[in-house]
Amino acid sequence: MKILVINSGSSSLKYQLIDMETEGVLAKGLCERIGIANSNFIYKANGTTIEQQIDMPSHNVAVKLVLDKLTDKEVGVISSMSEIDGVGHRVVASGEAFKKPTLVTPKAMELMEEIKDLAPLHNPAAIVGVKACLAAMPNTPMVLVFDTGFHFTMPDYAYMYAVDYTHYEKYKIRRYGAHGTSHKFVAEEAAKYLGKNIEDLKIITCHLGNGSSITAVNGGKCIDTSMGFTPLAGVPMGTRSGDIDYAAAEYIAKKEGMDVSEMLTYLNKKCGMLGVSGVSSDFRDLSAAADAGNYRAKLALDMFAYGTKKYIGAYAAALNGVDVIVFTAGIGENDNRIREAALKDMEYLGIKLDAKKNDNCPRGTIAEIQAKGSKVKILVIPTNEELVIARETVKEAKLG
Ligand code: ADP
Repeated sequence: MKILVINSGSSSLKYQLIDMETEGVLAKGLCERIGIANSNFIYKANGTTIEQQIDMPSHNVAVKLVLDKLTDKEVGVISSMSEIDGVGHRVVASGEAFKKPTLVTPKAMELMEEIKDLAPLHNPAAIVGVKACLAAMPNTPMVLVFDTGFHFTMPDYAYMYAVDYTHYEKYKIRRYGAHGTSHKFVAEEAAKYLGKNIEDLKIITCHLGNGSSITAVNGGKCIDTSMGFTPLAGVPMGTRSGDIDYAAAEYIAKKEGMDVSEMLTYLNKKCGMLGVSGVSSDFRDLSAAADAGNYRAKLALDMFAYGTKKYIGAYAAALNGVDVIVFTAGIGENDNRIREAALKDMEYLGIKLDAKKNDNCPRGTIAEIQAKGSKVKILVIPTNEELVIARETVKEAKLG
């Protein structure tokens, strides 16, 4: 069985064709600058990469190009489109309208329209992506898989904000979280790797990438997560402020003459590591600058590690203990110094890192980096959000 996973952005479309028997990737790639001049098409399969400048005025054209390549006589990996058994679409925001992966139906698409302003940059793109795929493959089952899905097991006292309750009732203002497919994947991988039943484990998963979120997982279920109504909340990120006192935001807005939407753009795009350092949002650049003596770059890295540490502490409290801490995503998988700084001086919680194992952590595979005698297991696990989307698609479309 083969599942196509689609991740649509406003001007991009990432895709992977996954063979569910082996859970291996048959082909993957990216359509960039859709609807903009100089569109770029990337296709990777059988160890080769093809990159082409092709005009892609719409997502429909992009999807058609993807399908043409997948079925191409020379570089394709399937002989016809009918070999694609299902399509899984990544969707950023669900509101309370969708609490689990959902089969694409006219009714589901109506609901998607109703909630699209919850993530104005992302959800409309997902709708366009679904429609483009439906136009090309009208008889193939499709499933919407939400970044928020894993977090719906949070108890009310964890997902509610302390605002006027009627605003929750009217507008569904609450914590939804993000990166749910990643948190779910690495928590399950951790249990599998340790040979334990996930129901017996208290796990803190740290998805540290361009956007970062930390989740408390009790018995395989999310009980709290650091992102909020949108992915702006939590630890400071590449360009996002993370948690901030709203009165401070209002003060800056008044002084700098910004309206609310300009303030939100500022908090999402110009803050975080980029804003503090003035150097970059990329942790590799920040480390290089900090090593060269740049105070603000070092400050940004210290703030990120400290923010992560505080959430780990908070979630150890929420979970009433912790058995496993998992690091994943671009920073979590690659940045040994952030891992070390985030776990510093936590031995009283049974968390003890092996500095050598941490520094020599192999890439692209699961690694165990706690010191001998550490009560808590510390794992680095490569995430695979596309595989979760593909698995959910098989389940929801009853293809298995
Ligand atoms: P996203 O999927 O949210 O765009 P990723 O999970 O790909 O983000 O993470 C991207 C970030 O990971 C980059 O911005 C960079 O800061 C960090 N990163 C990637 N590789 C390394 C590395 N070798 N060392 C430190 N940081 C890295």
